[in-house]
Amino acid sequence: MPTPTIATAGPRLAAIAETVAAGGRISDADALALLACTDLTLLGRLAEQCRFQRVPERRVTFIVDRNINYTNVCITRCKFCAFYRLPGDPAGYVLSHAEIFAKIDELRAQGGHQLLLQGGHHPELKIDWFEALFTAIKARYPDLHLHALSCSEIAHLARRSKLSLAETIRRLRVAGLDSIPGAGAEILDDRVRGVIAPYKESTASWLAVMREAHHQGIRTSATMMYGTVETDAEIVAHLHRLRDLQDETGGFVAFIPWAFQPASTELATATRRGAVEYLRILATSRIYLDNFDHLQASWVTQGEKIGQLALFFGADDMGSTMLEENVVSAAGCTFRLGRPELAHLIAAAGFTAALRDQRYQILGPA
Ligand code: SF4
Repeated sequence: MPTPTIATAGPRLAAIAETVAAGGRISDADALALLACTDLTLLGRLAEQCRFQRVPERRVTFIVDRNINYTNVCITRCKFCAFYRLPGDPAGYVLSHAEIFAKIDELRAQGGHQLLLQGGHHPELKIDWFEALFTAIKARYPDLHLHALSCSEIAHLARRSKLSLAETIRRLRVAGLDSIPGAGAEILDDRVRGVIAPYKESTASWLAVMREAHHQGIRTSATMMYGTVETDAEIVAHLHRLRDLQDETGGFVAFIPWAFQPASTELATATRRGAVEYLRILATSRIYLDNFDHLQASWVTQGEKIGQLALFFGADDMGSTMLEENVVSAAGCTFRLGRPELAHLIAAAGFTAALRDQRYQILGPA
């Protein structure tokens, strides 16, 4: 790996570059300085250095999966969401087992290994509904990896079912839950959450679900949706909370930052919409999150060209093929890439493309 040029970077960035080169940990103040850094080339080179410290192989992975949204009925009314329908809305739905099986059959036909199952906070679906669904999926597709339910869905489910968090997660795991997606984190700061999602789980609740899942041996991912009302300091606070929990449990397998998509939502305007902001936040995340192995490029929200560029700003993974996606597409973002296109993007960037499972075990060439 080339050493970043620090001659013109200024004393703060020069000190950060030295810390990174030595494999050390940067501070919150350092992360703030990186978020203000206009030298994108330097940021990319620092992030690339950190990427190769964690993942030495010149390999970029992805997974073939499908996102199924089992219901769009939700009582939580997040202002950034264009996907949900309130109870009683004629456009609200709950998928039947037969409808879900038909979608899984399509996934299997394309060689898919993982089902990402998420939905709204339905007021009437309780633990027995999820146990029956997960058990039926696992009976029919025993080797399918079930990556399901965000932290806020699990906390909502626990409340509705009058169960403790620990018991809810234990029962879901017994029924077939393999891992938990990091969705619903938005920005882990209660001021921001109070503005964009006042009825959603608090920061402490999101972290409590992740902590309990990790303690029960369930691996999870972590996300960050930026570009609404947050400050740079609140982005750093988000990263700080993730790094602390990862120090404690080691249960996160990956981090995925992505930009808010404003179309059809109650939040009229989005900040930080450009590619430079995305690449700066991605690079800062890679440099700060020194205990996360994998960072995903968000081509779903950034498009294929920026997704490819992200591989030079700390990302070592292209996420998934997303055979079906309904949430960001409801907010106007409709990028689609199949397995050959993803493999081509990776190879054209000078990396070896490989298929992985949810734990980032390599399954073979893409
Ligand atoms: S983001 Fe999730 S919890 Fe919030 S309104 Fe949309 S479906 Fe409901």
